[in-house]
Amino acid sequence: MTQIVSNVHVVKGSVVNCFLIVDADGLTLIDTGLARDRAKILRSIADLGHSPRDLKRILLTHSDGDHTGSLAALRAASGARVYASAIEAQAIARGEPSRPLQPRGWAKIAFALLSPFTARMFKAAPATVDEIVSDGQVLPALGGLRVVATPGHTPGHISLFAPAAGVLFVGDSLVSEGARLRGSRGMNTWDQAKADESVKRQAALGARIVCTGHGEVIADAVDKFPQV
Ligand SMILES: [Zn+2]
Repeated sequence: MTQIVSNVHVVKGSVVNCFLIVDADGLTLIDTGLARDRAKILRSIADLGHSPRDLKRILLTHSDGDHTGSLAALRAASGARVYASAIEAQAIARGEPSRPLQPRGWAKIAFALLSPFTARMFKAAPATVDEIVSDGQVLPALGGLRVVATPGHTPGHISLFAPAAGVLFVGDSLVSEGARLRGSRGMNTWDQAKADESVKRQAALGARIVCTGHGEVIADAVDKFPQV
């Protein structure tokens, strides 16, 4: 676990980054990694001097299994309220991705060969979402954490923006590659045009720090958004 800015920590899971936010009333977790990342997340909560019961909120950017794998277990261990968009909540309840994957050409063959692996990546145990969130809603964490609808990677994908801290949590709507950001693309992108629109919207927020689901946290992010 590494501190990004005051009260924001990244927990590097086996494939996905999760983020822990510390507030006076307790902790907020953004995304939950694979099932096997649960122990590491609980250890990180302990390292911050807290118990699992101090985890008050779990926010999901989208329903892919590498972001929701520990959700059911962490909800049970903590009693946290779980938040997601309506579309992603339905998929989370089924333990499935919220859109079909669209492999083409050679990717189709590779995808078939890798299917046990990809199935694990995109499936998770069904879990309950307690509260449906929508664009513009402000959640009580990090001085006000605004829900920003960022569809494209998945239909109901959301990002979370804390204007006071200048931190934007983007799930898989942006990926960090080296010191730069790129948008979602390829077979696990539900709608490329919507994904591009979401990147434009994110770039206009003026975030100083971007926390992606995959890759390194991007500092001084203002000029590191992709041109779309
Ligand atoms: Zn994803």
